[in-house]
Amino acid sequence: MATDLKKPVKKMELPSDQDSTGRDMGDDEMLLLGEAIASGTLTSTKGKFVKQLEEQFAQYLGVDHSHAVNSGTGALHTAVAAIDPEPGDEIITTSITDMGALTPIIYQSAIPVFADVCPSTYNVTPESIEAVISEKTKAIMVTHLFGNPCRMNEIMEIARARSIPVIEDCAQSFGATIDGRYVGTFGDIGCFSLQQGKHITTGEGGLVTSSDEALARRMYLFINKAWGYGDAKPDHYFLALNYRMNELTGAVAVAQLAKLAEFVSRRTEIAAAMTAGLSDLPGIHTPAIAEGMKHTFWKYCLRVESDKLKGGLDELAKRLKERGIFCGPRYIQKPAFECEVIRDQRTFGDSRFPFNLARPEAVDYSRDKFPGTYEALASVLVLPLNEKYESQHVDYVVQNIREVAHKLAK
Ligand SMILES: *Cc1c(COP(=O)(O)O)cnc(C)c1O
Repeated sequence: MATDLKKPVKKMELPSDQDSTGRDMGDDEMLLLGEAIASGTLTSTKGKFVKQLEEQFAQYLGVDHSHAVNSGTGALHTAVAAIDPEPGDEIITTSITDMGALTPIIYQSAIPVFADVCPSTYNVTPESIEAVISEKTKAIMVTHLFGNPCRMNEIMEIARARSIPVIEDCAQSFGATIDGRYVGTFGDIGCFSLQQGKHITTGEGGLVTSSDEALARRMYLFINKAWGYGDAKPDHYFLALNYRMNELTGAVAVAQLAKLAEFVSRRTEIAAAMTAGLSDLPGIHTPAIAEGMKHTFWKYCLRVESDKLKGGLDELAKRLKERGIFCGPRYIQKPAFECEVIRDQRTFGDSRFPFNLARPEAVDYSRDKFPGTYEALASVLVLPLNEKYESQHVDYVVQNIREVAHKLAK
């Protein structure tokens, strides 16, 4: 009897985006990488692969300019540097995002001001952005979280009415569209990451995009220590870093980019199968996608009403982990503003710069200002997926969630 009750659940190994089980790379990448090495030219200032990547990515997205960088964080830093805030200026951003979207704001001496998120899409909204706009707002930076687009048409209306530039963080939303138009092309600058776990990857890497000539030029310079390559009298024009991608990375990126459309359609198919299998569970909601939007599923999120399950979200997540389904009960443990760097203003020495210049309201992170954020974090179950998931993997995940949800149902 006792052994029956303890019967171990048969686990299936799910493909992981941290290694070759869940990443589609091989001969195509090797071929171009070999060519880069054989050429002996590994710097993008002289080589061909990074240039090719930039041209092809701009063409794919339908923008005038794209520049490659060495991380997604570098892409966002480059974008903020191009906007060139004055110390103490504010950049509106989101409480649920990667820290790589936030520290660049602080490095460029601006204050990240957090807009609340919608508890069912986890994205900032036109309303939550408008609520925190001030006379100090220098830019708006949105994250299309998990691959689900923000409401860009309305957000752009608000921004354009006040001439505020918009940066779109598309690190998780390659291929996502609104009425057929790619995210990253609504705002003034798009930023992408090629980190290990993203839709396409080179381990580390990133891209910035823009159709604004002046912003694109400034981004190019920022990536290149602001050295005016090719100018009549080049100089280091302003404070900037070396964020260049190298040719080895560029070669792999070119091969990965060629597969992006296929990866995106794989992910949307997998997500559709998950939704079909999970849409009738009490207290569990499949992803909310607004009319006209194409979600490209960096992750697949369920919204769980904890009070409808015994032990709530945490118990559900624990039981799924026991079955080899490594879901985060929360994508991030806490809102970004509760991280020490921001909460305790640990920046440059003991100066607290630039937070020492902030309006008190801009750095007031009282819980009651962020109801959507706390509700989102308390209810989101983040499930991984990648281009190597086959139907047996999807079935395994769906069957186990169904079983556990029924066992825990009140
Ligand atoms: C991954 C990610 C970043 C940072 O990109 P890195 O390449 O890891 O530096 C920024 N924003 C979001 C939303 C991300 O998912």
